[in-house]
Parts: sequence; structure tokens; C-alpha cells
Amino acid sequence: MPKRKIKESRAIVTGASSGIGREIALELARQGARSVVVARRKERLGELADQITAAGGQVEPIAGDITDPAIRQKAVDAAQSRFGGLDILVNNAGIGALGRFEEADPKRLRQVMEVNFFALVEMTRLALPLLKQGTNPIVVNVSSILGHRGTPHNCEYCASKFAVQGFSESIRAEFARHPIDVLVVSPGTTTTEFFDNVIQRTGEPSWPEHTAVTAAAVARETVRAIRRGRHEIIPYRWGKVLCWLNRLSPGLVDRIMARYA
Ligand code: NDP
Repeated sequence: MPKRKIKESRAIVTGASSGIGREIALELARQGARSVVVARRKERLGELADQITAAGGQVEPIAGDITDPAIRQKAVDAAQSRFGGLDILVNNAGIGALGRFEEADPKRLRQVMEVNFFALVEMTRLALPLLKQGTNPIVVNVSSILGHRGTPHNCEYCASKFAVQGFSESIRAEFARHPIDVLVVSPGTTTTEFFDNVIQRTGEPSWPEHTAVTAAAVARETVRAIRRGRHEIIPYRWGKVLCWLNRLSPGLVDRIMARYA
């Protein structure tokens, strides 16, 4: 039995110009939601908006950097002024960096945390008053398998996603009284522009890319989980295996990871 209906719901999707965020925005629109979509690449957002509008949907693009408080405010204001409120907040915007900790520029940790963690937290804080007035409201935080298990060459990214995981579990308990659901989506390797957009590359991904799934499949599973009121999903078979193995035998996984380093 679905917990919420997507039709007529009002959403904000961050990081909607490509990859998983774009597919989530399209899937929400297909199922009748109206969305504010946010990202820096204006033309890409324009193309997405045209596609949604041509199919009869409603969308409001906001071009800008999610780490900028003024852009976050613009997104929340747009949900209120254009759609009359907010029911679904999808915190999806994210960046990565690749390479060993000892070779990393200290600035890269700050940059990764600004986008993947602080912007997500502040977006949630800002949206909370609107969400409290929403219909069956939900916050969807896009984390990663690497928010469950640290891997070599990804320390800043892993730290940011573990932070998302802890933050989400805490607010889930706090928001239960409103009630606002909190869903954490932990994708594994997904075919997107993510690896082209890494901010600093001094190493290579430690995860096999041939096992990748499509962004559309992750989006479909995410929207299904929103409908059903799920708390956690891992839309990646090998990610589930990794999490399970890590719980059972973390020492073994440590030894495997050391070989990849
Ligand atoms: P993409 O690079 O395709 O998408 C990232 C999105 O985030 C883009 O729309 C980008 O838009 C946006 N973004 C990045 N920085 C900012 C910023 N400062 N302000 C506003 N928007 C920003 O990668 P994915 O679709 O793969 O990534 C989506 C999420 O999925 C991320 O949180 C990522 O960590 C997570 N994930 C991805 C995995 C993968 O294998 N692809 C695996 C596990 C998790 P623009 O550049 O236009 O600003």
C-alpha cells in the first residue's frame, strides 16, 4: 500500500542538470509532481525544463550554486510562490574527488563537504518550515555506498557521505513528530557524468565501473521508495553485498580494500 501519492506533489530536486538528479526530476514529472530544479549549468536545466513542459508537466528551473545561501533561498521561495508549498525535498547535488589522502590538497576536503554535506544540511534547515505544512512530506538525501563503507582514494567523499548518513538518521528520529519522512538513497556505481566532474583527480576509482547501473534505474527505485515511505535504499546489487560483508567481517573487507589502495 503506497504511503504517499506523487501526483500533484511539490518537489525541489538539487543537482538536476545531469545524472541521477535529472532522472529523478523526470520520473517525478512523469508521475505528476511539480518540481523546482536546481543546478549551476543553466542550459542543461533549460533543456530539462523544456522536456518536462513539452510532456505537459510543470517545472521551475533555478540556476546557481547550491552552496550559496541566496540560491537555496531562491529555490525554497520558488516552491512557495510557483507551487504553493513543498512536499518532497531531494538533496541530490554532489561532487567527488579521487586520490590518496596524503597527496590531496586540503582545500578539496572543504569543497567536497560544502557541496555534499553543508549545502544538504542548510537546504533541509531552510525547507523545514514549508515541509512541515506539506502533504506527507519527505526529505530524500542522496548518499552513497561509500557512506556505509570507506574505500581507498575517496576519503573526502566517504567522509561527506558518512556525515549525510549520520545527519539523516538523527533528523529522521526528530522529524517523526511532525511527521516528515527521511529517505536515504545509497547508490553504487551509476553511469553519469560524476567521474568526469571530479574536482581533483590524483588517483583512480577503486570501484569496478563495468558493474554500473543506469541513472534512470536509480531514479525509478528512488521514486518508488518515496511513494512507499521507505527509510533506506541501496539501488545497487553489489553495494548490498558490500554492506552485508562489511557488517559480517569488517576485517576481511579492510584487507580487500588495502589491495585496491
Ligand atoms: P553528476 O555529476 O551527473 O550530477 C551531479 C549533479 O550535481 C549535477 O546536476 C551538478 O550540476 C550538481 N552539482 C554539483 N555541484 C553543485 C553545486 N555546487 N551547486 C549546484 N549543483 C551542483 O553525478 P551523479 O548524478 O552521479 O550524482 C548525483 C548524486 O549521486 C551525488 O550526490 C553523488 O554523490 C551520488 N552518487 C553517485 C554515484 C555514481 O556512481 N554516479 C554513486 C553513489 C552516489 P551542475 O554541474 O550543473 O551544477
